[in-house]
Amino acid sequence: MVIPSSGFDPPLHEVALLGLPTDEASSFARGAAQGPQGTRQALYSESSNLWSEGGLDLGGMRDVRWHDLGDLELSGGAASRREIEAAVAQQLGQGRRVLSLGGDHAVSYPVLRAYGQHYSDLTVVQIDAHPDLYDEFEGDRYSHACPFARTMETGWITRLVQVGIRTATAHQREQKERFGVEWVERCHWGDPGRVSWTGPVYLSIDLDGFDPGCAPGVSHLEAGGLSPREGLDWIWRIPRLVGADVVELNPSRDRQGVTAALAAKLVKELLARLMETP
Ligand code: MN
Ligand code: MN
Repeated sequence: MVIPSSGFDPPLHEVALLGLPTDEASSFARGAAQGPQGTRQALYSESSNLWSEGGLDLGGMRDVRWHDLGDLELSGGAASRREIEAAVAQQLGQGRRVLSLGGDHAVSYPVLRAYGQHYSDLTVVQIDAHPDLYDEFEGDRYSHACPFARTMETGWITRLVQVGIRTATAHQREQKERFGVEWVERCHWGDPGRVSWTGPVYLSIDLDGFDPGCAPGVSHLEAGGLSPREGLDWIWRIPRLVGADVVELNPSRDRQGVTAALAAKLVKELLARLMETP
């Protein structure tokens, strides 16, 4: 197996890090609105450094090649979705790639509206315990259980590949067929080489895709998930990564900051790959 390394000097692309602090679409427990703050606390903690595994000095590139825009001010409901879409579209219009911090997974729908209109031929890879394909959930079509149904309805996304799924209901299996969603089978969760990659890729990481032993700080614990190393392999093996999000960190349910540390680790490698890949 070829291990990719950071071969680009200087990095090719600028990246915006954008916090989306909302959990009003969460179905079970609130708390993901504190996700961006929890992720940043771990990211900037002196307990680690800001070097990527490939050897990129992210600390030295902050405010030059990547920019922490802080948290977006959100008005709530449909207005929040418009605000998120507009903010992401603005960054894309400036030639930047966007790394969003949730917030619950509902934020990915407006983010992907902006991405779907900016890129033709976009593949979305979603790491998650849940397909999030419900047509509606508890009467809410914009619940965090629905964002990928809404996204696929736009027709702006070419492919949706889901990894880590282990809770699909009969309805969600029907939705999968309806939208032509691809699942990476559980025996291959750790093998990004199973996917034939074409075009730009957006990676959406719901932290509950990981095993609760590695990521207890989420609202929905579902045993039997990915290891952090498997998640990092997806980040490293996507040949053209143009956008990403890390969502569903719920700091109030975390243990000793384990999940926040995982989120921060993912953010570091995502920042590096978003800057480096063509
Ligand atoms: Mn999700
Ligand atoms: Mn989930």
